[in-house]
Amino acid sequence: MTRTRDGASCQLSFLALVIWLIATTSLFANTNERQVTNLAEGVYAIQHKSSNDGNVNGNTTVIIGDREVFVVDSCYSPSLAREDIAQIRQWTNNPVGYLLNTHFHNDHNNGNRAYLDAFPSLAIIAQEETKKDMDLIQPGNIERAPKQIAETIAALKQGKTPGGRTLTEDEKKQVREMLPGLEQQEAEFKTMVYQPPTLMFVDQLDIDIGNREVQVKHLGRGNTPGDAIVYLPKEKILIAGDLLVSPIPYTFDGYRADWAQTLQNMAQLDATTIVPGHGPVLHDKAYPIWWLT
Ligand SMILES: [Zn+2]
Repeated sequence: MTRTRDGASCQLSFLALVIWLIATTSLFANTNERQVTNLAEGVYAIQHKSSNDGNVNGNTTVIIGDREVFVVDSCYSPSLAREDIAQIRQWTNNPVGYLLNTHFHNDHNNGNRAYLDAFPSLAIIAQEETKKDMDLIQPGNIERAPKQIAETIAALKQGKTPGGRTLTEDEKKQVREMLPGLEQQEAEFKTMVYQPPTLMFVDQLDIDIGNREVQVKHLGRGNTPGDAIVYLPKEKILIAGDLLVSPIPYTFDGYRADWAQTLQNMAQLDATTIVPGHGPVLHDKAYPIWWLT
């Protein structure tokens, strides 16, 4: 999911959220459960359920080396990031040494602080443009979020959308089911702290986490100015961030002219398993346009 780079509107508006929740319930009904896919020995992709306020969470990938663990993206809700951390601790005693933010959108990095709290020697990696955008946008996002959720809750409790439209009886029923989750999310965001990346790169960063090589690359602009991907050459696994989203790409912040070339660059990598920024794991380079079939 994307946020605009305009600081005043970088959170998905909660009016849009309510509409989105209602409109997409059927589209995403079969994917709104946490799903873990074992990609290779010690490599796992986690698809998250939606957060309590209805926002989507980017996928998280966990790569376990003999010494350390490398994590790709920390998702939207810190509570879900903590769930992932508990799962990682079940998989290995090795600490998470590296967390990559693939881009600046907060559905991929709100959980940064949860990782740093759990693993104090953690390095949080990002392409330098991603760090700049996060520093610009995230503090305001975090400050505004609890207030926006509180206003949304107040409107919904009065039987209206945040924009003032009266809810239908069906919508009121859905809203009643949403409210406890929204209140939980409001409480969670009240305590959230911005944690920026701590290790920046420009084009490429290769890291050995113990008998496992992790290549981090910036292949050009696409979804955002600083998109980063991860490639595991031995395992032929590519973790694409939101340069690739299945089934629907988001393009609101994108650089469309550059994006095609960046995807061409990505296609040069010899990958047999591809983890998109959202959606299920792919096993070839044919984009699954299932809604056209
Ligand atoms: Zn996303």
